[in-house]
Amino acid sequence: MSNAKVNQIKDMTDYQGVCIVAHQEKGVNLPISFELINEGKKLAEKTASHLHVVILGHTINEAVEELSYYGADKIYYYDHPLLDTYTTDAYTKVISTFIQNIKPEIVIFGASSIGRDFAPRVAARVGTGLVADCTRLDINEDCKFLQTRPAFGGNLMATIICPNDRPQMATVRPGVMEKAEPIEESSEIIKIVPELTEEDIIAKTIEIIMDKTKKVSLTNTEIIVSGGRGVGNAEGFSLLEELADVLGGVVGASRVPVDSGWISHSRQIGQTGQTVRPKLYIACGISGAIQHMTGMSESDYIIAINKNPKAPIMKQAHLAIEGDLYKVIPELIQEIKVKKG
Ligand code: FAD
Repeated sequence: MSNAKVNQIKDMTDYQGVCIVAHQEKGVNLPISFELINEGKKLAEKTASHLHVVILGHTINEAVEELSYYGADKIYYYDHPLLDTYTTDAYTKVISTFIQNIKPEIVIFGASSIGRDFAPRVAARVGTGLVADCTRLDINEDCKFLQTRPAFGGNLMATIICPNDRPQMATVRPGVMEKAEPIEESSEIIKIVPELTEEDIIAKTIEIIMDKTKKVSLTNTEIIVSGGRGVGNAEGFSLLEELADVLGGVVGASRVPVDSGWISHSRQIGQTGQTVRPKLYIACGISGAIQHMTGMSESDYIIAINKNPKAPIMKQAHLAIEGDLYKVIPELIQEIKVKKG
């Protein structure tokens, strides 16, 4: 059936409420789930509707229980052995059926690799659109769902609406939204065993091989010392490591050092890297291109160290230090060590 045909038979007033798709890994809720709940609560409040959370897995009772203390109206828990390991086919079938039955007005997924894989398939299955990789969501005075994401190579932010179809669906980048705080009251949990068979799953997972390379979490850290082209070479990053060490933080980077092979892609911050919101972000030798700012502008406090006082980041920073990073950083390290005793 074409989308046009699906549109004709949809009654938009049938669709009510906000639904977020929670993400878990081996029965542990991922931070994005709490970020989406927080955002979902705000949207539900603005539309005077309810917030539902849907989670898929097998024997993940503890994760479901934990989610129930974050203020959602209902938690739908789909439990099945075939949902133990993520597969595109099983997740797509279960979520599509859920949407067709429950008819939420808004559905939000995390833009994790899993969310990015199955959200577009769900959108196609239920005959609606999807705004991928949103960095901001809102409801305007006409009750329209505003979905904002970088567009045209990140050179501008586009706000997209979906006035003629339901549900309105979006994926949201991990680390962009603030996490919800737990509350004392728990939500109603509705446990469902979905109809799933081996035949539903065309692409099978043969084996899961864990990435054994040293992983650094940039999204859950409070202090990031980030380096850009101004660092000049791979060796220069050891100075940034030293500063990060004395502050108890981790090192990040703009895309240039990553493309130059000075540091791994797992450290890249920005539109094609990670989105972070630490308490302190120190940008060393980074100009502040929009594709970089997209990934760190929500940081609580930004310090920029740059030789060029006219670099865009110097205007965005809470504290702009004009100077050569190779002079400024050693002095900073020294000062911090003295203060620490
Ligand atoms: P530059 O812009 O070259 O800036 C270097 C800065 O260092 C300058 O301001 C200079 O004054 C300063 N400097 C030089 N030497 C010193 C010194 N000794 N001491 C102090 N300051 C010094 N970029 C990202 O970062 N992340 C992304 O995810 C990303 N995604 C992208 C996606 C797309 C589709 C595109 C088109 C681009 C993307 N980019 C991304 C690239 C982005 O456009 C910029 O090119 C990049 O962010 C610039 O990196 P930079 O600030 O390190 O380098």
